[in-house]
Amino acid sequence: MTPAGAGRAREVALDDLRDHVNRGHSRIASLLGLPLEVRSEGALVYDEEDNPYLDCGGYGVFLLGHRPPDVVDAVAGQLGRHPLSTRALVEPNVASAARTLISVAPAGLQYVFFANSGTEAVELTMKLARANGCHRLIAARGGFHGKTLGSLSATGNDRYRTGLEPLLPDVEFVPFGDADALKAALRGDPARACVLLEPVQAEGGVRIPPEGYLRQVRELCQEFRALLAVDEIQSGLGRLGAWWGCDEEGVRPDLLTTGKVLSGGVVPVAATLATAEVYEVLNRDPLFHSSTYGGNPLAAVAAATTIEVLRRDRLIERARGLGSRLLPQISGALAAAGPQLVREVRGRGLLIGIEFTSEALAGLFLTRMLRERVLTSYTLNASKVIRLTPPAILESDHIDWLLRALERSAVALTGA
Ligand code: PLP
Repeated sequence: MTPAGAGRAREVALDDLRDHVNRGHSRIASLLGLPLEVRSEGALVYDEEDNPYLDCGGYGVFLLGHRPPDVVDAVAGQLGRHPLSTRALVEPNVASAARTLISVAPAGLQYVFFANSGTEAVELTMKLARANGCHRLIAARGGFHGKTLGSLSATGNDRYRTGLEPLLPDVEFVPFGDADALKAALRGDPARACVLLEPVQAEGGVRIPPEGYLRQVRELCQEFRALLAVDEIQSGLGRLGAWWGCDEEGVRPDLLTTGKVLSGGVVPVAATLATAEVYEVLNRDPLFHSSTYGGNPLAAVAAATTIEVLRRDRLIERARGLGSRLLPQISGALAAAGPQLVREVRGRGLLIGIEFTSEALAGLFLTRMLRERVLTSYTLNASKVIRLTPPAILESDHIDWLLRALERSAVALTGA
């Protein structure tokens, strides 16, 4: 694109965004001078003038990088054969994708229902819990499970619920990481409960619970006959340097949700996994839950190939090694600015949070990083935290780029 053509394309996009998608987004994009994103490859995203950006954002989706060749080839092959199914016959890809996903899932989970987005997968979790006699849902403060009405009711942030309360199902909240508080809540009411939480709260600000917490939660659920639903939409499939956050503590949930990385960064897909016992209601009545597009062949092929690539390329181990090297390096790069900028850098695997001393500084830092051509993520339930969720395919020149950008941004903001 010529510079004039690029400028014009951006103007048209911002006007259309303002008039037909979201005025607020358009205004922010305009104020910050955000470019268009037009193509991507590996760890890089390119703007309309073909400038590369290092992608350490993407809300946790791109663990394999952008357009991983195996996933793109598999999806392109399916696109050329049979992209969407009639549902009148037997579509084989959804069945083999479910088998592949179960082959890497925590023991005990046997059935899979594919959805199109994370929030849908959480909705089915809540529905299955209810159908299994759980009349109470207990979630953790600061947690994030999506923004449709059911999953929003379990999302521990009032900002997104204002004015909607009468529509939201009742959910009880307990402090995240506090097993005693959960015990008190379970003990306080004899009705059967389902406990829904993330192993690490991602949108909550990369909050890592005390060691042993998830195991204690599992034991409490056992003691009080509660179901345990673990939301691994952001933490699962390698993001934490393990297949699942559950694996770290040898926990077997009754229900598990996954999404994001499952797409391979190519076709949106999420899933609800359940034990045979919990899933029985769906086995008895196959129409208890259904979705026109859920488990479509393109998504199924993307999901199965993504898992094969994670396994073949040992990306989980890579995420773990890279994460443990990056964490101190990131702290080191930010240290130059002194303590007035950053409160803490924390993370597990390739889910890394930088907590700033104020929301304003976090926002300024994110925009300053854009000038260094590094993409990071805002954190929905914790605006003082900027997240880095880089791909596991990061090379050493990318790491140098990231560390230089962090250091320069920190120094620019503090004048250190
Ligand atoms: N659950 C968790 C833990 C998430 O992080 C997210 C999204 O960030 C969701 C659910 C909702 O997923 P989606 O945005 O695909 O609906």
